[in-house]
Amino acid sequence: MSRLCWLLIPLALAIPARAEDLPNGWEGAIRPEHVRPHVEFLASRELAGRSGADSAKAADYLTKQFRDNKLRPLFADGSFEQMIPTSAEADSSDESPRIVGRNVGAWLEGSDPKLRDELIVIGTHFDHLGTRNGKIFRGADDNASGTAMMLEVARQLAALKQRPKRSIVFVGFDLEEQLLWGSRWFVAHPPFELDRVKLFITADMIGRSLGDLPLPTIFVMGSEHAPRMKLLLDDVGSPRGLEVARLGIDLVGIRSDYGPFWNEKIPFLFFSTGEHPDYHTPRDVPEKLDYDKVARVSSLVLKLVETTANADGAPEWTDEVQPNIDEVKSIHRITELLLQAGEKKPLTDLQRLIVTQAKNKCQQILDRGTFNADDRKWLIRISQVLLLSVF
Ligand SMILES: [Zn+2]
Repeated sequence: MSRLCWLLIPLALAIPARAEDLPNGWEGAIRPEHVRPHVEFLASRELAGRSGADSAKAADYLTKQFRDNKLRPLFADGSFEQMIPTSAEADSSDESPRIVGRNVGAWLEGSDPKLRDELIVIGTHFDHLGTRNGKIFRGADDNASGTAMMLEVARQLAALKQRPKRSIVFVGFDLEEQLLWGSRWFVAHPPFELDRVKLFITADMIGRSLGDLPLPTIFVMGSEHAPRMKLLLDDVGSPRGLEVARLGIDLVGIRSDYGPFWNEKIPFLFFSTGEHPDYHTPRDVPEKLDYDKVARVSSLVLKLVETTANADGAPEWTDEVQPNIDEVKSIHRITELLLQAGEKKPLTDLQRLIVTQAKNKCQQILDRGTFNADDRKWLIRISQVLLLSVF
């Protein structure tokens, strides 16, 4: 996750889904014991926070995983790696610019001759902040968790007897913590024409929870720019024990590797369980992750990718985003969850007061059934308070 705090921005356009109510709550194919070893290796002391030369060790690990799963190399000359020069030298005429990182990529060819030219890209950053003043920033949640998801989705898809119709691309981005330099380089120097990409999926921090409170929530952002994905998210539901909160990306801003794809108007989804007090500290360690949650999110991504890859039509970008009362429903649900969580891990008086007031105001709007511009200004303010200041 990039340094800027995406939770500063309000929730928008969310339709909360209650896992216990969903007729289509299901068991996921990806299990905690699948994702955990990836996190434990990538966030080990040996990898020293995955920056500079230590980030290359993480890149080697991804390459080996892709090879072992018999995926095809993504880049020129049959390479799994794309060298990334320094941003300073990138535009110069220097014949041999200094290499500062590597993206790692592989792909699975689609089975349908008519659809295989269309691509679904799953890309997650594997770098982190390195070691500072002798302290290792291990980056277990940020973003060994998302990388473990990507590797397991790749492994599962590669093992299918019947390959998906569209082709699937898997990428580990380096240098996300350096202003998204890895994904920006990838989009500026793609190994295929960008208009072939029908969907980009990323995940950044999917193993903890907002404010470290016991919430079952996965925030999914960006679907408002791809109507088909919005419908598909509702259709697919979520694994038991996981609740999807759909948010609008337009109010969130660029916080992770979806940024360069968003700029190209490529439909995208961004998955995150939110910020917590250990974000960008040496305390972001593997022992603190909820591996059930990482596995459930991974299973959800797997199902979305498979369904999208096999659907008749592909997602299409839309600029038109209509805010609606579902935003209020989402905030209302978050306040309910926060109050429930507060029974297990007590809230301060101020936290309880603000959450309760927000819940009551949302309830009033929902009872009235109309949502006007002034309400929306209030909703934006209260979302910022709830998600940034209070916890
Ligand atoms: Zn980060």
